[in-house]
Amino acid sequence: MSFVTGLVCVSCGGSFREGDASTCPRCGPGEGILDARFDLPAVGKSLTRASLAGRPPTHWRYRELLPIGPAPIPESLLIGWTPIIEAPRLAKALGVARVRLKDEGRSASASFKDRASSVGVVRALNERATAIACASTGNAASSLAHCAAAVGLRCNIFVPQSVPQGKLAQLLAYGARVFKVLDNYAAAYDLCERACARFGWYNRNCAVNPYLVEGKKTGGLEVAEQCADDPPNWVSVSVGDGCTVAGIAKGIAQMKALGIIDWSARVLAVQAAGVAPIARAFESGHFEPMSVGGTYADSIDCPVPRNWRKAVESVRASDGAFVSVTDEQIMDAVRVTGRLAGVFAEPAAAAAVAGVAEAVRRGVIHSGASVVAMITGNGLKDTAGALRAVGSPHEIRASMDEVARIAERDGEIAPR
Ligand SMILES: *Cc1c(COP(=O)(O)O)cnc(C)c1O
Ligand SMILES: [Zn+2]
Repeated sequence: MSFVTGLVCVSCGGSFREGDASTCPRCGPGEGILDARFDLPAVGKSLTRASLAGRPPTHWRYRELLPIGPAPIPESLLIGWTPIIEAPRLAKALGVARVRLKDEGRSASASFKDRASSVGVVRALNERATAIACASTGNAASSLAHCAAAVGLRCNIFVPQSVPQGKLAQLLAYGARVFKVLDNYAAAYDLCERACARFGWYNRNCAVNPYLVEGKKTGGLEVAEQCADDPPNWVSVSVGDGCTVAGIAKGIAQMKALGIIDWSARVLAVQAAGVAPIARAFESGHFEPMSVGGTYADSIDCPVPRNWRKAVESVRASDGAFVSVTDEQIMDAVRVTGRLAGVFAEPAAAAAVAGVAEAVRRGVIHSGASVVAMITGNGLKDTAGALRAVGSPHEIRASMDEVARIAERDGEIAPR
């Protein structure tokens, strides 16, 4: 059975039954984003700490909190339950008592987006869709292409011009039909919407599909369960469209409402300084989309975020904060996350780490705090971007003298 009781418009508060609307007809597809509501008392009868202990290590362990009803879940969709890694040296560098990293880079297609795409694919199969589609700057697309290939669905992807090679290679390797739109993300997005309407493809675009953000929610459900007896004060996550941060906040809040945890964590939402319309809306109360973006962190280069309202409200409800970080701070975070924690983060993921340092500097996060940073994507996604941050190798002739020269310059002394 489904535990979804209905959908509520985040703009006007209007309620809808499942299946009656995908966006609020009064507020329109731009503003009328819907939020799925669940019968939590009913969920709590079967989803308990004790029952969770016996469930498989995937995000399907939370199926009562996912909008998939009794749909069967293909065994090939192994998503979720990524590890949480203690990072004491990174904590020291960031100036905070404790840092743990939730490494979503280990997910099937190497990003957090697998959580949403897998829910989309299960729903598409249940609705007997023949194909699925999305517009994406990269990770939403590569995760959808992975999930579609894993279950045998046809997949259509609209990417903007500026997609990194690693992500493009993933799409093609998973066999998606890729439309590289010679324009920006907004144009690719609009074209995808129209193509879905015309051909009946299942639309994975997160903001207009109220069910996909529920998949992202499992990131928050997992943080809650994995840290149940050892709670963080803050959870840091980078923000583009706003679905990820909203999903994570909702997941933690639902685990508290169910009594599986008895704490809540404050959410630190991190935007890139060059593309920070949601951070500005959080400060000023007024949302203004941008005409162009521009950040090194391509996955959060989102000048027209569709889910700004959910993001602002969920961060506020958690007593959280927004910060923005420069590309230089993000590059620095790529370096320290790799070197001090052994985790290779793509730029948008490293932004969550950069945000912790910035929040500590501004006095938003106290130096005694414990933080979980969401590493939303793997650095191998964008090796060109990574190389801009991490330097270059020592080019040498095949000579021991040259090895010795460099090792000694670094202060090494060979034992006699
Ligand atoms: C998509 C993405 C984000 C941000 O998620 P939004 O829902 O767009 O806010 C952060 N990091 C990575 C690696 C992503 O792919
Ligand atoms: Zn509305």
